[in-house]
Amino acid sequence: MKFADIPGLEEEKKRLIDFFKSDKIHHALLFFGLEGSANLPLALSFATYINCENKKENDSCGECPSCLKMNKLIHPDVHLIFPVAPSPKITKEVVSDKYIESWRVSYLENPYMNVFDWFETCGIENKQPNISKDEARNIIKKLSLKPFESRFKINVIWLPEFMHNSTANALLKILEEPPGDTLFFLVSNNYQKLLSTILSRVQMFKVKSFEDEDIKNYFRKFDDVSESEVDSAIYLSGSNINTAEKILRDATVDNLNYLKEWLRNCYSENFLEINKKLDWFNDLSKIKKRAFLMYSLKLMREALVSKIDLSLVKISEDEKNFVSNFRKTLDQESLEDLILLLDRSVSYLDRNANPKILFLDLSIKISNFFQKVKT
Ligand SMILES: [Zn+2]
Repeated sequence: MKFADIPGLEEEKKRLIDFFKSDKIHHALLFFGLEGSANLPLALSFATYINCENKKENDSCGECPSCLKMNKLIHPDVHLIFPVAPSPKITKEVVSDKYIESWRVSYLENPYMNVFDWFETCGIENKQPNISKDEARNIIKKLSLKPFESRFKINVIWLPEFMHNSTANALLKILEEPPGDTLFFLVSNNYQKLLSTILSRVQMFKVKSFEDEDIKNYFRKFDDVSESEVDSAIYLSGSNINTAEKILRDATVDNLNYLKEWLRNCYSENFLEINKKLDWFNDLSKIKKRAFLMYSLKLMREALVSKIDLSLVKISEDEKNFVSNFRKTLDQESLEDLILLLDRSVSYLDRNANPKILFLDLSIKISNFFQKVKT
């Protein structure tokens, strides 16, 4: 993995290269950024660059033996640590090394994966994953060996917020004073959860979230999706590269027709039909549930804007027709309330609210908006 594989973030890449060139790499760097940011790909690209035997001006070469091993995540001097949980086959000494093959597959398929994607791949969805004290022991043991092939030994700890307190405490000394030419890259989505004793031993490195333009560039890799599909996926994902990719890969749901039907059912208070919609919504994958709510939100926002000027609205003809009919059914105030309500529902969904209750509650409230305007 080269820096060039990550869209945008030129400033971050340059800072890392400068750290290396000026010999000022802190021995423990904490890459922090929100979920969907490039913190993990950036840490691994930096590890690749550091170990590359034929560095280019601003990137690794991608071709030397070290780069080739990094591309497959099999470099013997780069130790990958991540949250795991016991499985039927692995009950003792539950450490990352025992899951490394699944992790490689998961990462190489989707470098912007989140922790839930990882749990799903390795089949530990319903357990409590963590980075255990055995892992700390494993790290310390490995560091007592000399590097195999490179000058640096690099430990990449993905999601250190899953470290057990005893793991964190066992690592304090080695984080403070690691053996020569040892580097720690901690890669976190939620560093506030780390112990202050860990935070005081690392240098913080902020990875900002992608701009929409960066995400668009990244999706140029899909040659069979149109620009408007990409725009829509970025919007529906809340500008999250990981979610947007899933939306693009998933067969699309006919959001417009479902939205029309649903609102019609709410308008006529047809709770028999709304009940059927509850099951439909409940059976969607989480990504599609979110995409449906975001899509509804998008059209409601368009309806609000179109009350001002329809020429401002960037949507398809079908959507325009729907929006112009729909806006006649609600007054300004109800429409604004409805937008707030949908917006809140998306965040409840993100926080694992029960989808049926959420959708029923939404349907009742939307129905009430219509009845208020009708009377
Ligand atoms: Zn190289």
